[in-house]
Amino acid sequence: MVVPIKGFIENSLIEWEGKIVSIIFLPACNLRCPYCHAPHLVLEPNDLESIPVDAIINKVRQNHGWVDGVVVTGGEPTAHKHLAEFLKLLKDTGVLVRLDTNGTNPQILKDLIGRSLLDCVAMDIKAPLQKEKYEQVAGVPCNIEDIKESIRIIMESGLEYEFRTTVCPTQLNGDDIKDIAMVLQGAGRYVLQSFRPTHCLDTRMLQVKPYPAETLREYATSAGKYVGSCCVRGEKVMVAERNW
Ligand code: SF4
Repeated sequence: MVVPIKGFIENSLIEWEGKIVSIIFLPACNLRCPYCHAPHLVLEPNDLESIPVDAIINKVRQNHGWVDGVVVTGGEPTAHKHLAEFLKLLKDTGVLVRLDTNGTNPQILKDLIGRSLLDCVAMDIKAPLQKEKYEQVAGVPCNIEDIKESIRIIMESGLEYEFRTTVCPTQLNGDDIKDIAMVLQGAGRYVLQSFRPTHCLDTRMLQVKPYPAETLREYATSAGKYVGSCCVRGEKVMVAERNW
């Protein structure tokens, strides 16, 4: 089984709310978001050394008891054909497993959930679900029906989940965030992430100024009318919350 692990953070207190987790980074991605902070994983993964799967599994096993879970992120983890086998190894250690995905592979997502290999899913929603707009933000052609299907699978899964959007001023405005939130109507949790002009895949993004925190809070308040809760990543206070 070959899963090329390109990064490992042994413990994080902020990645999965309320949990201590390890983070595993897998390379490659089918999208090319200009603001992507992992261009090394997306564009030149073969230049990075791989960490053996056995070493990671042993470390996760050793940490079991004080580390609650593992987040498998990327890149796009569903790009790897042996992902299910790798997740099974992680699950067999007894930790909780979260998958971060861009939602472009609903069949793989469905299969992983059906095989009880996930405890939580975090999915990026790049833009309102209009083809031209989505492709502009994702940087490549996209199948919008796949994105919709992934949203549906996640919302019906019964698992803990989170949808999130990186909000970059050159790509998305308040109306776009509202449009996304309306598509997510009834979802439990939606998180807005501020765009950060560092290590961007498209270096022109380094010149872009992020939205002020107050603007993001306003967008979150507006989006919160449609979902269970909406917050800005990194802010402790939920700016909008609703009990369905
Ligand atoms: S930000 Fe975009 S390009 Fe980067 S890993 Fe995520 S989906 Fe892929």
